[in-house]
Amino acid sequence: MSVAQRVLDALDAPMQVAGRELQVTASVGIAIDDRRYANADEMLRDADIALYRAKQLGRKRYELFDETLARSAIDVLTLEGELRRALLNDEFEPYFQPIRALGVAGMPVVGHEALIRWNHPTRGVLAPGEFLKVAEDSSLIETIDWRLYEHACWHLARCSAPDTFLTVNVSARHLRYIDFDERFLAMLERTGAAPERLVVEVTEGALLDNPERVRMTLEQLRAKGVGSALDDFGTGYSSLSYLHSLPLRILKIDRSFVDGLDKHGNTSSITVVEAILALARALDIRVIAEGIETPTQRDVLLAMGCDMGQGFLLGRPAPCESPDASDAA
Ligand code: C2E
Ligand code: MG
Ligand code: MG
Repeated sequence: MSVAQRVLDALDAPMQVAGRELQVTASVGIAIDDRRYANADEMLRDADIALYRAKQLGRKRYELFDETLARSAIDVLTLEGELRRALLNDEFEPYFQPIRALGVAGMPVVGHEALIRWNHPTRGVLAPGEFLKVAEDSSLIETIDWRLYEHACWHLARCSAPDTFLTVNVSARHLRYIDFDERFLAMLERTGAAPERLVVEVTEGALLDNPERVRMTLEQLRAKGVGSALDDFGTGYSSLSYLHSLPLRILKIDRSFVDGLDKHGNTSSITVVEAILALARALDIRVIAEGIETPTQRDVLLAMGCDMGQGFLLGRPAPCESPDASDAA
């Protein structure tokens, strides 16, 4: 453990690479050979389980393997197997959360965000927090997401007025593919969804890998009418150069700032939100405030000139009520 700590400390110092300062972090999994292992593969497997745990607990740390870890690793494997089964059985469904225009009388719905839900046969409806991490680590997320986009686009015409937009969440993984934009456009064509109504939501984390690739992908999509939004703004790197260089239509202010808007004496959230709004205005980017839960938060945002809002106060995520049944009647 002390060796692991030394390695972590040594890596923690910034490194100079090709004239830039880079910061790397490491996670360490440790398994100790107490003669229970028949071969090296078994020992590596346990070290790997401990490593997975170290990453789960926030990275930049070490973890020692023990039997409880082995059990939770089995859970991960079970979950992975279940996700595969769920794909076959088509158990994923988009829920739609309304996005409203704050400054217009009656606060009409101007768009929706598609949020994935898993209709689990025994555990009920599961939110992404319960399975997204495993889906991403096992790369199942790609297949799951494509299926979800397809469903969401399919529902687009049935669940919302024609002058509203639909946003979908795009994992960092997708943006590594050079043909993401082509595939996305082909999917829109297949489902009959108008590109002008679609907005892809990316997080700043997605940009770290290869900002230039992401920029090109978003440019290609924009050329066909698909917009892009930067999700959870303020929680990542919030780099001005990203804002400036990407073809962004929308910026979504993270819920953590909105949350502070009705806390007495919390002026820092107000200052940050005001600054983000001014920045967006200067760059001609529209803004959605996420996670509005109270009338005070809504009113403060409205007074600051925030364009659009989303949150439990304005509407919870809900499945599309297909009008098919009434059509048939
Ligand atoms: P996000 O994109 O930032 O989505 C907003 C999350 O905030 C949603 O959680 C939504 O239900 C929740 N939310 C909305 N209004 C409020 C509010 O007033 N208060 C609180 N406390 N929460 C609110 P959800 O559906 O659990 O999704 C969590 C995250 O999972 C999303 O964060 C997004 O990053 C990811 N996600 C959701 N659907 C998909 C998907 O289809 N594909 C991928 N790759 N990621 C997805
Ligand atoms: Mg989102
Ligand atoms: Mg968000």
